[in-house]
Amino acid sequence: MDHFIIDNLKQIKNEVLLKKKDCKIIAVSKTFQIEKIRPLLEFGHIDFGENKVQEAIDKWSNIKNEFKQVKLHMIGKLQTNKVKKAVKIFDYIHSVDSFKLAKKISNEQNEINKRIKLFIQLNINNEKQKSGIFINELNDFYQSMTKELKLDIVGLMCIPDVERKSTEAFTLMKSLCDKLGLKEISMGMSSDYLDAIDYGSTFVRIGTKIFGKRD
Ligand SMILES: *Cc1c(COP(=O)(O)O)cnc(C)c1O
Repeated sequence: MDHFIIDNLKQIKNEVLLKKKDCKIIAVSKTFQIEKIRPLLEFGHIDFGENKVQEAIDKWSNIKNEFKQVKLHMIGKLQTNKVKKAVKIFDYIHSVDSFKLAKKISNEQNEINKRIKLFIQLNINNEKQKSGIFINELNDFYQSMTKELKLDIVGLMCIPDVERKSTEAFTLMKSLCDKLGLKEISMGMSSDYLDAIDYGSTFVRIGTKIFGKRD
């Protein structure tokens, strides 16, 4: 048994508790087999993150029936041709980054009468190669998501530039969420989750610090 995985999670939970902030921990289980994840499920952990649709289906379809508490978060780039499957298995999608994708999510949701909680992914540092809505597009994008498509947008998500101090991005994220009246902020990973929580994150996405290094 990999007790170290539970110990890692317990330690992080304690850190969050000490900060007296309402922040949930998404255990990012991508690349890890279900045997590695199972101890956390038996421990009662709720939120798990995956970044590939097919991997999520293969790993989680049965387990989700066994552990009803589980909420599955899609945190990776989502292709429109995978949306049908994604809508079925995931409870949250953190990577809504285009109107085309959002429209497809809306259609597939209506099809099966499900309403997923969604985050708009922001390209918070204006990086050329990175996914996400640019800050100057955010207002219009948010309006079309909510008014036109009637989607359940709960917050904003970002993956800051690794070359820069993420606290600048975190400050900006918080103020943008406040402006739109959005409650949830998905930011902070293994390297910067403590800062992220201080700056108002409500969902930290932690992989390495819980499961160890990925291959
Ligand atoms: C893999 C991944 C994480 C977790 O990263 P760690 O550094 O291992 O904690 C968080 N967010 C996204 C979007 C990821 O793809």
